[in-house]
Amino acid sequence: MFGRGRTGGVLSAPAECNVAVLGTTGSGKSALTVKFLTKRFITEYDPNLGNLSEWGNPGLGGATGWAQRIGLASNTRTQDTYSTEEIVDQQPVVVKVMDTADQDGPVDCERYLTWASAFLVVYSIAERHTFEGCQSYLDILALHTRGEAPQPPLILLGNKVDMERYRQVSRCQGVELASRYGCLFFEVSACLDFLSVQQVFHEAVREVRRE
Ligand code: GDP
Ligand code: MG
Repeated sequence: MFGRGRTGGVLSAPAECNVAVLGTTGSGKSALTVKFLTKRFITEYDPNLGNLSEWGNPGLGGATGWAQRIGLASNTRTQDTYSTEEIVDQQPVVVKVMDTADQDGPVDCERYLTWASAFLVVYSIAERHTFEGCQSYLDILALHTRGEAPQPPLILLGNKVDMERYRQVSRCQGVELASRYGCLFFEVSACLDFLSVQQVFHEAVREVRRE
């Protein structure tokens, strides 16, 4: 997925890294995507909206999509894919993020399996069923990437650490699941600091560069 960066001493277009964000509905995929793209937690835009579903389908990017509501430029998005120019370790890269919205586990997977250079599988530490939902995504990724060399980076991401009081999935359980599938593991919150969310996406870029 990565271009060369420089050709003949002339700076070429920045390399690209395609990150697919997967996981059960409600785990916070859209909130994390918005945080990474805008540094904001989405409900900051309208405190009366408790649930992102009330923002409409983010995938549409149309009149009811969150991307338009929060003013993301139309040239940075198509359907449910958004792009941002980043500098990771002093090198430019265009990070494209696909905020998937499967309703009942992995359905339309071919689309992101063939597109992505890295995968984030998200759950909420405060909602056990979202952790259990990760298994089917990890199984599909393992099946799809079997025999591929190098393996595309997988990151298991426990979201909503601000909800520590309601934690239903221990950090140990996250680490254990990640190690079983050869994933990196992080815990973050889409409504706390931006840098720890940014770090996850940047780590995906670093892993792809290592390939
Ligand atoms: P998706 O279905 O995976 O895209 O999940 P959403 O991004 O729509 O988030 C589901 C709900 O969880 C929404 O009400 C969000 O505001 C909320 N949410 C997302 N991330 C966080 C977080 O880090 N902390 C808290 N407290 N709520 C979050
Ligand atoms: Mg969503």
